Amino acid sequence: MRDEIKKELAKIVGPDRATDAPEHLVTYSFDAYTEEHLPEIVLFPVTTEEVSAIMKVAYREDVPVTPRGGGSNLAGESIPIRGGIVVCLTKMDKILAIDTGSLTATVQPGVVNLDLQKAVEKLGFMYPPDPASWAVATMGGTVATNAGGPRTLKYGVTKDYLLGLTVVLANGDVLKTGGRTLKNVTGYNLTTLLCGSEGTLGIITEIIVRLVPRPLASRTVRADFVKLEDCSDAVSAILAGGIIPASLELMDQFTVRAVEKSFNLGLPVDVEGILLIQVDGGPETLEREVKQIEAVLKEKHAVNIVSAADAAEADRLWLARRSAGTALMRIKPNIVTEDVTVPVSNLTAMIRKVVEICERNGISVGVFAHAGDGNLHPCMVFDRRDEEEYQRVLKACDELVPEALALGGTLSGEHGIGLAKAPFMPLAMDSVALRVMHGIKDYFDPKGILNPGKFV
Ligand SMILES: Cc1cc2nc3c(=O)[nH]c(=O)nc-3n(C[C@H](O)[C@H](O)[C@H](O)COP(=O)(O)OP(=O)(O)OC[C@H]3O[C@@H](n4cnc5c(N)ncnc54)[C@H](O)[C@@H]3O)c2cc1C
Repeated sequence: MRDEIKKELAKIVGPDRATDAPEHLVTYSFDAYTEEHLPEIVLFPVTTEEVSAIMKVAYREDVPVTPRGGGSNLAGESIPIRGGIVVCLTKMDKILAIDTGSLTATVQPGVVNLDLQKAVEKLGFMYPPDPASWAVATMGGTVATNAGGPRTLKYGVTKDYLLGLTVVLANGDVLKTGGRTLKNVTGYNLTTLLCGSEGTLGIITEIIVRLVPRPLASRTVRADFVKLEDCSDAVSAILAGGIIPASLELMDQFTVRAVEKSFNLGLPVDVEGILLIQVDGGPETLEREVKQIEAVLKEKHAVNIVSAADAAEADRLWLARRSAGTALMRIKPNIVTEDVTVPVSNLTAMIRKVVEICERNGISVGVFAHAGDGNLHPCMVFDRRDEEEYQRVLKACDELVPEALALGGTLSGEHGIGLAKAPFMPLAMDSVALRVMHGIKDYFDPKGILNPGKFV
């Protein structure tokens, strides 16, 4: 990028919110995946107008632009693979309004998910999308990736709570979609189209979301299974029994052992699988649901069932699940967190496949899953400095994806496509769907400057 363009861009935001210092550029060259590429300049706008002015210059000069929030995505979605500008939205971090009378909140894209959660919780409300990364993931990032989380099973993902957006398009135009009403069927649903577009269609600068009342109470149960088949059979049986838990999470033996080694929580290391189940709602309903779930767990041969007596004990049970990623990361310096998703009835088959593929490729893997959604996170641990080992990890990923598709699954349940999954798009979508998607991209971004080199 020419120096005078950099100067023009820096002038839009001011010198304090622009940098091309090499040590800063490195910081914005990677995310939570494994690849890296340096941008040429990083800008931190604080208004929609600034973002629009940046895009006007980028459009005029054909410069690539990669939007970025917390940089916590796991698929290389925010790596500026073609260089150019990183537009980092973390300084647009204001909760603009919480309107409990209309069940809405309006936020800037840099608001951290957990900060919104805390703000609405104080008022007796809940914003359901709760990625495990909620302490760092921004609202813009979660909208751009259509993030989910443990509560997805009962409450759905980001798109289910998204009402409206302000978005700066590639040429600098400002698009407003949706609004503050809970119902809105006016024309094409542009809000949903932009949700999950991974920064390839526009830069989100304002977000309106829907809130729900906070559940009155919750109960947590842990169950240990000698056989993995029984563990995932129990998941299907709970759902078939007509109960939709708020969360229904599974950890395999490798993961449990890693958690135990790191955190010593008293988990059973000899079982093949553990389930963590949380139900929420009114106290009377919860009593009945917990009894029903415990009966199913016994019927499916759970060898041990622990029902948390109070919130503190429930927190201790959930600590095991929340620690899983960290525990696995302690085994080796790098980790690829896969995200394949299958119909719940094929959960065991997919886990067995994952383990078989990783063993065959000489890769250590722990699997935990949002089991109620069929969303598996095989975590392959490795050392990125060992190129040969890294190539084996990529080969294992290449083999996993077709297996998931063959079992009726999908490329990604929640992490998105980015760089990691882009090569698999033709396997998951037919040529008509791909053509329509490319047509949409061409309309929104005719010069292909928005997050180029990614899935579209
Ligand atoms: C430990 C850990 C646990 C995780 N758990 C979950 C989980 O449970 N569920 C889940 O869904 N994900 C999870 N993730 C993945 C990640 O946190 C989510 O994808 C999250 O939504 C990314 O938010 P971010 O602010 O970090 O976005 P970034 O990583 O910065 O960006 C993600 C994508 O969004 C685009 N983008 C960011 N901001 C904007 C904007 N304002 N306008 C347009 N495009 C934008 C970027 O260009 C990029 O394509 C996890 C990650 C980690 C490291």
